Amino acid sequence: MESFIQYAYVAAAVLFIFGLKQLGSPATARRGNLISSSGMLVAVVAALLSQGIDYTWILIGFAIGGAIGAAAARLVQMTSMPEMVALFNGFGGMASLLVGTAALSPAAGTFTLVTIVLSILIGGLTFTGSLVAYGKLSEKITSAPILFGAQQMVNGAIIAAILVSAVLFCINPDNTVWLVLVVALSLIFGVMAVIPIGGADMPVVISLLNSYSGLAACAAGFAVDNNILIVAGSLVGSAGIILTQIMCKAMNRSLSNVLFSGFGSGKTETTEVDGEIKPISVEDAFYVLEAASTVAIIPGYGMAVAQAQHVVKELTELLEGNGAEVNFGIHPVAGRMPGHMNVLLAEADVPYDQLLEMDDINPRMETVDVAIVIGANDVVNPAAREIESSPIYGMPVINVDSARTVFVLKRSMASGFAGIENPLFYKDNTRMLFGDAKESIGGLVREFGS
Ligand code: NDP
Repeated sequence: MESFIQYAYVAAAVLFIFGLKQLGSPATARRGNLISSSGMLVAVVAALLSQGIDYTWILIGFAIGGAIGAAAARLVQMTSMPEMVALFNGFGGMASLLVGTAALSPAAGTFTLVTIVLSILIGGLTFTGSLVAYGKLSEKITSAPILFGAQQMVNGAIIAAILVSAVLFCINPDNTVWLVLVVALSLIFGVMAVIPIGGADMPVVISLLNSYSGLAACAAGFAVDNNILIVAGSLVGSAGIILTQIMCKAMNRSLSNVLFSGFGSGKTETTEVDGEIKPISVEDAFYVLEAASTVAIIPGYGMAVAQAQHVVKELTELLEGNGAEVNFGIHPVAGRMPGHMNVLLAEADVPYDQLLEMDDINPRMETVDVAIVIGANDVVNPAAREIESSPIYGMPVINVDSARTVFVLKRSMASGFAGIENPLFYKDNTRMLFGDAKESIGGLVREFGS
């Protein structure tokens, strides 16, 4: 039986890795999800076949947790997905904390004690950190960074106290006071680490906490000597940190800038921009689009706010019916979570081969007749290339200003997440189509129909 369980674990690990690989492209992501989930099922069944397990509480937990999970997954809005992921990470952290605590025994050697402390420490801070991230994203608590004097010194002191308590516990495991201190301080540290970070940076924090939940699970795997928990935890830990890196790179910010700079605390840049705003009406925009033979659509956070994806798909079909070639330019951090635009456009059945990544659409931009920017702002801001003093200078952006004509669909002249002026709006070839994106595109669709 033992070797059967180990073979099953190997099979599960292979399924995890193949599933992860397939998550790399929108076209195969659903299958990847299914393959990884099957791997998890194999792992759970194999783990439960271990001898001496009383299934009563496992079945009760399975029934309650399964019902809550299934209901939550069905009811959650697509825009609330990052919040849900935050909660899942948090509970993953708490599970590792509990597994670590359960692994305590008088016979535990030093290595086991260290892994127990690590699973409790990382699991605890992941739990409370994720709850704060959830609260900030859902605006149940203020999403503004909470900053106070000597904050980093206070946090440094908490980390030092955690380390001292952890070492003292490993030296003297009979004195559980040290372990209780590790638990309490880790829970406090999770809160303290996340409150100084602004709500809009929460997706990066959630990705990082996801990585931590994996590390906690990995440590718990060592504590209870379970190979598949070690493998799954390592995969989550590394995938989470890679995603965190990708997000930081796409914003041209370092992880320490995201974690410690209090970005979004109201300090905004006020560069004077030359040129004037040229608004355009839906009717005039329609005439230009009717004559266009290549159109690039660049969606951003505003498309998610307006829930305009379905009407955007309608417009795409009408443009194609009119003989135009239509592509979408997807910036890696458009919206507020990784893959945000891909998920919305997939919901509206936009074919995957129409979605071009930034590096693929930028070289084509000069041949585009009309670039339609739908609720995107920072990700198309030419200041990232042109204004060295800009906070986003150096961030790779989609060069819509190279297209012959640019339509920017937004409601006002308000800035985007980075809180900075956008010189694109003042360029000669830019026309502002003011209004809610869903209504403006709906207007264009009606014009095509009439
Ligand atoms: P931005 O936040 O820069 O801009 C969104 C624009 O949408 C606003 O200027 C707003 O203008 C407009 N808008 C809002 N609601 C509507 C509506 N109903 N109809 C039409 N327009 C609307 O979004 P981008 O996608 O360009 O950039 C994403 C930003 O988020 C980047 O700065 C990125 O670094 C950051 N970020 C992204 C993460 C990710 O994983 N994707 C993670 C963390 C941060 P107005 O109010 O005038 O309508």
